[in-house]
Amino acid sequence: MLDDVDLLVCGAGPVGCVVAERAATLFNWKVLVVDKRPHVAGNCHDSHHKSGVLIHNYGPHYFRTNDDSLLDYLSQFTEWIPAKYEVRSAVKGKLLPFPINLTTLEEYYGSPLTSESARRLLDEKRLPIHEPSNSEEMAMSRVGPELYESFYRNYTIKQWGVEPRDLGPEVCGRIPVKFDRDPRYVSHKHQVMPRLGFTAMFAKMLKNRRIRMLTDCPFEDVRDLIRPRRATLYAGPIDAYFGHRLGKLPYRSLRFEFAPRDVEFSQPCVQINYPNEHEYTRSVEIKHVTGQRHPRTVVSYETPQAEGEPFYPIPNVPNKELYQRYFELAEQERVRHRVYFCGRLAQYKYFNTDEVMLEALACVRKMERECGAKPVRSPSSSWTSAA
Ligand code: UDP
Repeated sequence: MLDDVDLLVCGAGPVGCVVAERAATLFNWKVLVVDKRPHVAGNCHDSHHKSGVLIHNYGPHYFRTNDDSLLDYLSQFTEWIPAKYEVRSAVKGKLLPFPINLTTLEEYYGSPLTSESARRLLDEKRLPIHEPSNSEEMAMSRVGPELYESFYRNYTIKQWGVEPRDLGPEVCGRIPVKFDRDPRYVSHKHQVMPRLGFTAMFAKMLKNRRIRMLTDCPFEDVRDLIRPRRATLYAGPIDAYFGHRLGKLPYRSLRFEFAPRDVEFSQPCVQINYPNEHEYTRSVEIKHVTGQRHPRTVVSYETPQAEGEPFYPIPNVPNKELYQRYFELAEQERVRHRVYFCGRLAQYKYFNTDEVMLEALACVRKMERECGAKPVRSPSSSWTSAA
């Protein structure tokens, strides 16, 4: 039975679910999805804490995208609720809006500002670095040394375990500086959360009679047993796929502590960053954006660590070079054995959830071209559905 597989998918996170769903629906392929964890949705997994409050088990996932067609596609599997992702940073004994905006600058410097005077102020403070080559230079070029020290440097050291100058510019480059008072963390066109949560959305994607899901099943347990007729989609760490034969790629991990509270809300917004105090980087009260109404709440505290489940690739020059060598092996594997590497861990790239889903959709198009897939409309199979 397990041999009757067109596509083997390793990982039931955003990439695995999108590719499995598209291959089953569009190509009529029989898909087997395996995941070593006991649940679907990967790091987007959410569940009810014993207090009854919906939590994000692996850190906050704030869904946002500028892509209308991605939202349309996902809307087959969920309804959405609008969400306000508001973050503040504990700096100078206050909770200041973050990313730095006009209000942050006023409160930090203690004087009223307009957009124009704030721009002039930062023009005086920032360093003239035209092509930042690392995250320290990136932040210095946007806000200058003082704000860099207050908001970025220590947070980044805690988060990554290295100095910002040892990280690619794209890490701190994720954070804009804004000259308005918009307190939202991001400026994407769509900022929405799945009404019933991410796990429900991903489970619905897999609820297809041509998809079978095996949880608690590491890829290593099946890779030599199953020969898929068409392709394999691998969303795990790329170095692990190749037995770390070129050396280990470093990943940053996280530890979470979930603290229930007997109040409806415990902090003023969904996320508070602590750049300069505590071992943890941030406290997250996800209830601000899940839409759940509940008399109690749960706050999660996130502490970065070197060991443990891989969460973030660490983007710096030596790691990117090592990844490139693995990428060449992966290309050979694709050409010879139709194994496709997609996702944050498989491409060693710091993607957001929407970005990784767009990668997954691009991967499906590549499979269509390279694996003889013929789009069909009406799947017919006796395979039982997954959950
Ligand atoms: N960052 C920072 N100070 C903050 C928040 C973020 O210096 O208060 C830096 C840090 O290096 C972090 C990066 O910006 O890893 C990206 O932050 P983001 O909030 O996008 O991280 P994620 O939510 O993906 O962990």
